[in-house]
Amino acid sequence: MACLLLVLVVIGMHVRPAAADPLSVHAFRMAGDATRMRVVVEFDREPDFQWFLLRGPHRLVVDLPESSFAFDSEALEPRGLVSNIRYGKLYDGHSRMILEVKGPFAVERVDMLRNETSPGYRMVADIVAASEEAFEAALAEQAAPAGSAVKAPKAGNPEVPAKTGDDTFTLVIDPGHGGIDGGAEGVSGTQEKDVTLAFARQLRDAFKDKPGISVVMTRDGDRFLRLDERVRIARQAGADLFVSIHADTIRYKGIRGATVYTISERASDAVAKAAADRENLADSVAGVDVAEDNRQVADILVDLMRRETHGFSVGFARSLIREMSDTVQLIKNPHRSAGFRVLRAPDVPSVLVELGYLSNKKDEAQLLDADWRARAIDSMAAAIRRFAGLRNGAGG
Ligand SMILES: [Zn+2]
Repeated sequence: MACLLLVLVVIGMHVRPAAADPLSVHAFRMAGDATRMRVVVEFDREPDFQWFLLRGPHRLVVDLPESSFAFDSEALEPRGLVSNIRYGKLYDGHSRMILEVKGPFAVERVDMLRNETSPGYRMVADIVAASEEAFEAALAEQAAPAGSAVKAPKAGNPEVPAKTGDDTFTLVIDPGHGGIDGGAEGVSGTQEKDVTLAFARQLRDAFKDKPGISVVMTRDGDRFLRLDERVRIARQAGADLFVSIHADTIRYKGIRGATVYTISERASDAVAKAAADRENLADSVAGVDVAEDNRQVADILVDLMRRETHGFSVGFARSLIREMSDTVQLIKNPHRSAGFRVLRAPDVPSVLVELGYLSNKKDEAQLLDADWRARAIDSMAAAIRRFAGLRNGAGG
Protein backbone atom coordinates (compact mmCIF):
# COMPACT_ATOMS: atom_id res chain seq x y z
CA MET A 1 0.00 0.00 0.00
CA ALA A 2 2.74 2.42 0.97
CA CYS A 3 4.52 1.40 -2.12
CA LEU A 4 1.48 2.14 -4.27
CA LEU A 5 1.07 5.52 -2.58
CA LEU A 6 4.66 6.33 -3.27
CA VAL A 7 4.14 5.47 -6.93
CA LEU A 8 1.08 7.74 -7.08
CA VAL A 9 2.98 10.54 -5.39
CA VAL A 10 5.86 10.14 -7.81
CA ILE A 11 3.51 10.13 -10.78
CA GLY A 12 1.63 13.12 -9.36
CA MET A 13 4.81 15.05 -8.85
CA HIS A 14 5.90 14.20 -12.31
CA VAL A 15 2.66 15.11 -14.00
CA ARG A 16 1.78 18.36 -12.29
CA PRO A 17 4.88 20.41 -13.14
CA ALA A 18 4.83 18.93 -16.65
CA ALA A 19 1.50 20.60 -17.38
CA ALA A 20 3.06 23.98 -16.65
CA ASP A 21 6.18 23.20 -18.63
CA PRO A 22 6.50 25.15 -21.81
CA LEU A 23 5.41 23.28 -24.86
CA SER A 24 8.41 21.68 -26.50
CA VAL A 25 8.60 22.54 -30.20
CA HIS A 26 11.45 20.40 -31.29
CA ALA A 27 11.58 20.06 -35.05
CA PHE A 28 10.90 22.14 -38.12
CA ARG A 29 10.83 20.76 -41.66
CA MET A 30 10.03 22.40 -44.93
CA ALA A 31 9.75 20.97 -48.45
CA GLY A 32 8.61 22.31 -51.79
CA ASP A 33 9.47 25.10 -54.17
CA ALA A 34 8.50 28.64 -55.05
CA THR A 35 4.96 27.64 -55.98
CA ARG A 36 4.08 25.28 -53.14
CA MET A 37 5.49 24.52 -49.72
CA ARG A 38 4.74 22.04 -46.95
CA VAL A 39 5.85 23.02 -43.45
CA VAL A 40 5.89 20.50 -40.61
CA VAL A 41 6.45 21.45 -36.95
CA GLU A 42 6.82 18.82 -34.20
CA PHE A 43 5.42 19.17 -30.66
CA ASP A 44 5.81 17.01 -27.55
CA ARG A 45 2.07 17.22 -26.90
CA GLU A 46 -1.09 18.53 -28.50
CA PRO A 47 -0.99 22.31 -28.33
CA ASP A 48 -3.81 24.78 -28.41
CA PHE A 49 -3.05 26.79 -31.49
CA GLN A 50 -4.48 29.37 -33.82
CA TRP A 51 -3.28 30.64 -37.16
CA PHE A 52 -4.00 33.67 -39.25
CA LEU A 53 -2.67 35.76 -42.12
CA LEU A 54 -0.97 39.13 -42.10
CA ARG A 55 -0.02 41.34 -44.99
CA GLY A 56 2.89 43.72 -45.59
CA PRO A 57 4.83 41.40 -45.93
CA HIS A 58 2.61 38.39 -46.56
CA ARG A 59 2.81 36.16 -43.50
CA LEU A 60 1.34 33.06 -41.94
CA VAL A 61 1.25 33.42 -38.15
CA VAL A 62 0.82 30.51 -35.74
CA ASP A 63 0.07 31.32 -32.09
CA LEU A 64 1.00 28.73 -29.47
CA PRO A 65 1.11 28.44 -25.70
CA GLU A 66 4.46 29.42 -24.24
CA SER A 67 6.95 27.18 -25.99
CA SER A 68 10.56 26.22 -25.88
CA PHE A 69 11.84 26.03 -29.43
CA ALA A 70 14.71 23.74 -30.36
CA PHE A 71 15.10 24.05 -34.11
CA ASP A 72 17.98 23.05 -36.27
CA SER A 73 19.17 26.30 -37.86
CA GLU A 74 19.72 24.60 -41.20
CA ALA A 75 16.07 23.57 -41.35
CA LEU A 76 15.10 27.22 -41.00
CA GLU A 77 17.06 28.40 -44.04
CA PRO A 78 14.57 30.31 -46.21
CA ARG A 79 13.78 28.59 -49.48
CA GLY A 80 11.10 28.13 -52.09
CA LEU A 81 8.03 30.16 -51.26
CA VAL A 82 9.18 30.92 -47.69
CA SER A 83 11.51 33.90 -47.32
CA ASN A 84 11.93 34.05 -43.54
CA ILE A 85 10.99 32.20 -40.35
CA ARG A 86 10.80 33.79 -36.91
CA TYR A 87 9.60 32.43 -33.59
CA GLY A 88 9.72 33.18 -29.90
CA LYS A 89 7.86 34.31 -26.82
CA LEU A 90 5.16 36.90 -27.44
CA TYR A 91 4.25 37.59 -23.80
CA ASP A 92 3.82 35.41 -20.69
CA GLY A 93 2.14 32.18 -21.59
CA HIS A 94 2.18 32.86 -25.34
CA SER A 95 4.60 32.13 -28.16
CA ARG A 96 4.38 32.78 -31.85
CA MET A 97 5.83 31.48 -35.10
CA ILE A 98 5.86 33.66 -38.20
CA LEU A 99 6.44 32.42 -41.70
CA GLU A 100 7.20 35.23 -44.08
CA VAL A 101 6.17 34.29 -47.61
CA LYS A 102 7.46 35.51 -50.96
CA GLY A 103 4.34 37.36 -52.07
CA PRO A 104 0.67 36.43 -51.83
CA PHE A 105 -0.29 32.85 -51.05
CA ALA A 106 -3.23 30.64 -50.19
CA VAL A 107 -3.40 28.24 -47.26
CA GLU A 108 -4.54 24.81 -48.36
CA ARG A 109 -4.43 23.29 -44.91
CA VAL A 110 -3.14 23.73 -41.39
CA ASP A 111 -3.70 20.51 -39.45
CA MET A 112 -2.57 19.23 -36.06
CA LEU A 113 -1.98 15.50 -36.30
CA ARG A 114 -1.06 12.88 -33.72
CA ASN A 115 2.20 11.17 -34.71
CA GLU A 116 1.60 7.60 -35.81
CA THR A 117 4.91 5.99 -34.93
CA SER A 118 6.38 8.29 -32.32
CA PRO A 119 5.01 10.24 -29.35
CA GLY A 120 3.84 13.79 -29.81
CA TYR A 121 1.97 15.82 -32.40
CA ARG A 122 2.86 17.61 -35.59
CA MET A 123 1.41 20.59 -37.38
CA VAL A 124 1.25 20.27 -41.15
CA ALA A 125 0.73 23.43 -43.19
CA ASP A 126 0.45 23.52 -46.98
CA ILE A 127 0.72 26.89 -48.69
CA VAL A 128 0.65 27.70 -52.41
CA ALA A 129 1.49 30.85 -54.35
CA ALA A 130 -1.71 32.69 -55.22
CA SER A 131 -2.90 36.04 -56.49
CA GLU A 132 -3.09 39.16 -54.35
CA GLU A 133 -6.89 38.99 -54.76
CA ALA A 134 -7.02 35.48 -53.33
CA PHE A 135 -4.87 36.54 -50.37
CA GLU A 136 -7.01 39.63 -49.72
CA ALA A 137 -10.15 37.49 -49.88
CA ALA A 138 -8.73 35.12 -47.25
CA LEU A 139 -7.74 38.09 -45.07
CA ALA A 140 -11.24 39.53 -45.36
CA GLU A 141 -12.75 36.17 -44.47
CA GLN A 142 -10.63 35.77 -41.36
CA ALA A 143 -11.55 39.29 -40.26
CA ALA A 144 -15.28 38.71 -40.75
CA PRO A 145 -16.27 37.01 -37.46
CA ALA A 146 -16.10 39.60 -34.69
CA GLY A 147 -13.83 39.09 -31.72
CA SER A 148 -10.76 36.99 -31.22
CA ALA A 149 -8.37 35.54 -33.72
CA VAL A 150 -9.96 33.10 -36.07
CA LYS A 151 -9.07 29.48 -36.40
CA ALA A 152 -9.14 28.10 -39.92
CA PRO A 153 -10.83 30.41 -42.40
CA LYS A 154 -12.86 28.25 -44.73
CA ALA A 155 -10.47 26.81 -47.27
CA GLY A 156 -12.71 26.66 -50.31
CA ASN A 157 -10.56 25.63 -53.22
CA PRO A 158 -7.47 27.83 -53.11
CA GLU A 159 -6.15 26.12 -56.23
CA VAL A 160 -8.75 27.99 -58.25
CA PRO A 161 -8.87 31.56 -56.99
CA ALA A 162 -12.24 32.98 -57.90
CA LYS A 163 -12.08 35.63 -60.54
CA THR A 164 -12.73 39.06 -59.13
CA GLY A 165 -15.23 41.45 -60.61
CA ASP A 166 -12.66 43.15 -62.77
CA ASP A 167 -12.64 42.04 -66.39
CA THR A 168 -8.98 42.64 -67.17
CA PHE A 169 -7.36 39.59 -68.67
CA THR A 170 -3.85 39.04 -67.34
CA LEU A 171 -1.33 37.63 -69.78
CA VAL A 172 2.00 36.49 -68.36
CA ILE A 173 4.80 36.30 -70.93
CA ASP A 174 7.80 34.26 -69.90
CA PRO A 175 10.98 34.86 -71.90
CA GLY A 176 12.89 31.60 -71.55
CA HIS A 177 16.29 31.44 -69.81
CA GLY A 178 18.30 34.55 -68.81
CA GLY A 179 21.36 35.61 -66.87
CA ILE A 180 23.78 32.76 -66.29
CA ASP A 181 21.46 30.43 -68.23
CA GLY A 182 21.90 31.44 -71.87
CA GLY A 183 19.74 28.63 -73.23
CA ALA A 184 20.48 27.27 -76.68
CA GLU A 185 23.13 28.79 -78.90
CA GLY A 186 22.60 29.44 -82.60
CA VAL A 187 24.89 28.41 -85.43
CA SER A 188 26.12 31.97 -85.73
CA GLY A 189 26.30 32.61 -81.99
CA THR A 190 22.82 33.92 -81.20
CA GLN A 191 21.84 33.21 -77.59
CA GLU A 192 18.36 31.88 -76.89
CA LYS A 193 17.93 34.12 -73.82
CA ASP A 194 18.32 37.25 -76.00
CA VAL A 195 15.97 36.03 -78.72
CA THR A 196 13.27 35.13 -76.19
CA LEU A 197 13.50 38.47 -74.36
CA ALA A 198 13.39 40.54 -77.56
CA PHE A 199 10.41 38.55 -78.82
CA ALA A 200 8.60 38.75 -75.47
CA ARG A 201 9.02 42.51 -75.30
CA GLN A 202 7.65 42.89 -78.79
CA LEU A 203 4.70 40.66 -77.93
CA ARG A 204 4.03 42.73 -74.81
CA ASP A 205 4.06 45.91 -76.89
CA ALA A 206 1.38 44.44 -79.14
CA PHE A 207 -1.04 44.91 -76.21
CA LYS A 208 0.10 48.40 -75.31
CA ASP A 209 -2.73 50.92 -75.08
CA LYS A 210 -5.26 48.16 -75.71
CA PRO A 211 -7.83 47.93 -72.95
CA GLY A 212 -8.82 44.60 -71.44
CA ILE A 213 -5.49 42.80 -71.50
CA SER A 214 -2.71 43.55 -69.05
CA VAL A 215 0.71 41.99 -69.55
CA VAL A 216 3.16 40.83 -66.89
CA MET A 217 6.65 39.67 -67.85
CA THR A 218 8.43 37.08 -65.69
CA ARG A 219 11.65 38.92 -66.54
CA ASP A 220 12.31 42.13 -68.41
CA GLY A 221 16.09 42.06 -68.32
CA ASP A 222 19.00 39.67 -68.57
CA ARG A 223 18.55 37.81 -65.31
CA PHE A 224 18.34 34.22 -64.20
CA LEU A 225 14.99 32.92 -62.97
CA ARG A 226 14.30 29.44 -61.68
CA LEU A 227 11.51 27.56 -63.43
CA ASP A 228 9.38 27.43 -60.28
CA GLU A 229 9.88 31.18 -59.79
CA ARG A 230 8.36 31.72 -63.22
CA VAL A 231 5.31 29.69 -62.20
CA ARG A 232 5.12 31.58 -58.89
CA ILE A 233 5.11 34.94 -60.70
CA ALA A 234 2.27 33.75 -62.95
CA ARG A 235 0.16 32.53 -60.04
CA GLN A 236 0.74 35.62 -57.94
CA ALA A 237 -0.09 37.86 -60.88
CA GLY A 238 -3.43 36.07 -61.13
CA ALA A 239 -2.55 35.05 -64.68
CA ASP A 240 -5.32 34.03 -67.07
CA LEU A 241 -2.79 32.75 -69.59
CA PHE A 242 0.91 31.90 -69.39
CA VAL A 243 3.03 31.85 -72.54
CA SER A 244 6.66 30.75 -72.27
CA ILE A 245 8.84 31.74 -75.22
CA HIS A 246 11.79 29.60 -76.38
CA ALA A 247 14.01 28.92 -79.38
CA ASP A 248 15.64 25.58 -79.01
CA THR A 249 18.29 23.52 -80.75
CA ILE A 250 17.68 20.03 -82.05
CA ARG A 251 19.79 17.12 -83.18
CA TYR A 252 17.47 16.13 -86.01
CA LYS A 253 18.79 17.99 -89.05
CA GLY A 254 15.69 18.23 -91.25
CA ILE A 255 13.36 19.67 -88.62
CA ARG A 256 12.56 23.35 -88.53
CA GLY A 257 9.69 25.67 -87.69
CA ALA A 258 7.67 26.58 -84.62
CA THR A 259 6.09 24.20 -82.09
CA VAL A 260 3.46 24.80 -79.41
CA TYR A 261 3.77 22.62 -76.32
CA THR A 262 1.33 21.84 -73.55
CA ILE A 263 2.02 19.74 -70.47
CA SER A 264 1.52 15.99 -70.36
CA GLU A 265 2.64 13.19 -68.15
CA ARG A 266 3.98 11.17 -71.04
CA ALA A 267 5.71 12.97 -73.90
CA SER A 268 3.79 12.92 -77.18
CA ASP A 269 6.95 11.87 -79.06
CA ALA A 270 10.76 11.79 -78.93
CA VAL A 271 11.17 15.38 -80.11
CA ALA A 272 8.86 16.64 -77.37
CA LYS A 273 10.59 14.56 -74.72
CA ALA A 274 14.01 15.87 -75.75
CA ALA A 275 12.69 19.45 -75.69
CA ALA A 276 11.24 19.07 -72.18
CA ASP A 277 14.40 17.39 -70.91
CA ARG A 278 16.52 20.24 -72.21
CA GLU A 279 14.25 23.00 -70.94
CA ASN A 280 13.91 21.34 -67.53
CA LEU A 281 17.69 21.43 -67.22
CA ALA A 282 17.63 25.24 -66.97
CA ASP A 283 17.87 25.22 -63.16
CA SER A 284 20.78 22.82 -62.98
CA VAL A 285 22.61 24.64 -65.78
CA ALA A 286 22.66 27.60 -63.42
CA GLY A 287 23.89 25.43 -60.54
CA VAL A 288 20.60 25.53 -58.66
CA ASP A 289 19.92 22.33 -56.80
CA VAL A 290 16.40 21.16 -57.46
CA ALA A 291 15.86 18.00 -55.49
CA GLU A 292 12.61 16.44 -56.51
CA ASP A 293 10.67 13.43 -55.58
CA ASN A 294 9.80 11.85 -58.92
CA ARG A 295 6.71 10.20 -57.58
CA GLN A 296 5.40 13.49 -56.36
CA VAL A 297 6.08 15.07 -59.74
CA ALA A 298 4.15 12.30 -61.45
CA ASP A 299 1.23 12.84 -59.05
CA ILE A 300 1.22 16.56 -59.75
CA LEU A 301 1.15 15.88 -63.48
CA VAL A 302 -1.73 13.45 -63.22
CA ASP A 303 -3.60 15.97 -61.12
CA LEU A 304 -2.93 18.72 -63.66
CA MET A 305 -4.30 16.65 -66.49
CA ARG A 306 -7.59 16.21 -64.67
CA ARG A 307 -8.22 19.84 -64.26
CA GLU A 308 -10.27 22.08 -66.44
CA THR A 309 -7.19 24.25 -66.89
CA HIS A 310 -5.60 21.63 -69.06
CA GLY A 311 -8.51 21.78 -71.49
CA PHE A 312 -8.02 25.54 -71.77
CA SER A 313 -4.29 25.07 -72.42
CA VAL A 314 -4.97 22.60 -75.22
CA GLY A 315 -7.71 24.81 -76.69
CA PHE A 316 -5.40 27.80 -76.74
CA ALA A 317 -2.53 25.76 -78.24
CA ARG A 318 -4.78 24.69 -81.14
CA SER A 319 -6.05 28.17 -81.80
CA LEU A 320 -2.50 29.55 -81.65
CA ILE A 321 -1.41 26.99 -84.22
CA ARG A 322 -4.32 27.90 -86.51
CA GLU A 323 -3.29 31.56 -86.38
CA MET A 324 0.42 30.90 -86.81
CA SER A 325 0.04 28.41 -89.64
CA ASP A 326 -0.97 31.28 -91.93
CA THR A 327 2.09 33.37 -91.23
CA VAL A 328 5.06 31.29 -90.11
CA GLN A 329 6.47 27.86 -90.75
CA LEU A 330 5.49 25.22 -88.22
CA ILE A 331 7.00 21.80 -87.69
CA LYS A 332 5.01 18.73 -88.65
CA ASN A 333 2.43 18.02 -85.92
CA PRO A 334 3.02 21.42 -84.34
CA HIS A 335 1.04 20.73 -81.15
CA ARG A 336 3.09 18.43 -78.95
CA SER A 337 3.25 17.74 -75.24
CA ALA A 338 5.67 16.68 -72.51
CA GLY A 339 6.44 17.24 -68.83
CA PHE A 340 7.69 20.83 -68.94
CA ARG A 341 8.26 22.09 -65.39
CA VAL A 342 7.45 25.65 -66.33
CA LEU A 343 3.93 24.68 -67.47
CA ARG A 344 2.93 23.45 -64.04
CA ALA A 345 0.65 26.15 -62.65
CA PRO A 346 -2.46 24.11 -61.87
CA ASP A 347 -4.82 27.04 -62.31
CA VAL A 348 -3.26 28.91 -65.23
CA PRO A 349 -3.68 27.73 -68.83
CA SER A 350 -0.07 27.46 -70.01
CA VAL A 351 1.77 26.85 -73.27
CA LEU A 352 5.40 26.88 -74.27
CA VAL A 353 6.20 28.11 -77.76
CA GLU A 354 9.41 27.04 -79.43
CA LEU A 355 9.64 29.74 -82.08
CA GLY A 356 12.12 27.76 -84.14
CA TYR A 357 15.43 26.01 -83.90
CA LEU A 358 18.53 28.08 -83.35
CA SER A 359 20.46 25.06 -84.53
CA ASN A 360 18.93 25.56 -87.97
CA LYS A 361 20.57 28.31 -90.03
CA LYS A 362 17.32 29.38 -91.69
CA ASP A 363 15.39 29.39 -88.43
CA GLU A 364 18.11 31.40 -86.76
CA ALA A 365 18.07 34.00 -89.53
CA GLN A 366 14.27 34.17 -89.29
CA LEU A 367 14.27 34.69 -85.54
CA LEU A 368 16.50 37.72 -86.08
CA ASP A 369 14.38 39.07 -88.94
CA ALA A 370 12.07 41.95 -87.97
CA ASP A 371 9.44 41.08 -90.60
CA TRP A 372 9.20 37.49 -89.51
CA ARG A 373 8.96 38.50 -85.88
CA ALA A 374 6.22 41.02 -86.63
CA ARG A 375 4.20 38.35 -88.47
CA ALA A 376 4.64 35.78 -85.72
CA ILE A 377 3.65 38.34 -83.09
CA ASP A 378 0.55 39.42 -85.02
CA SER A 379 -0.66 35.82 -85.10
CA MET A 380 0.10 35.20 -81.45
CA ALA A 381 -1.56 38.42 -80.37
CA ALA A 382 -4.66 37.50 -82.40
CA ALA A 383 -4.88 34.07 -80.74
CA ILE A 384 -4.39 35.64 -77.31
CA ARG A 385 -7.11 38.23 -77.93
CA ARG A 386 -9.51 35.54 -79.03
CA PHE A 387 -8.74 33.45 -75.94
CA ALA A 388 -9.17 36.49 -73.68
CA GLY A 389 -12.51 37.24 -75.35
CA LEU A 390 -13.72 33.70 -74.86
CA ARG A 391 -12.74 33.55 -71.22
CA ASN A 392 -14.12 36.91 -70.29
CA GLY A 393 -17.21 36.24 -72.36
CA ALA A 394 -17.73 32.98 -70.47
CA GLY A 395 -17.62 34.89 -67.21
CA GLY A 396 -13.94 34.14 -66.54
ZN1 LIG B 1 14.63 27.16 -74.11
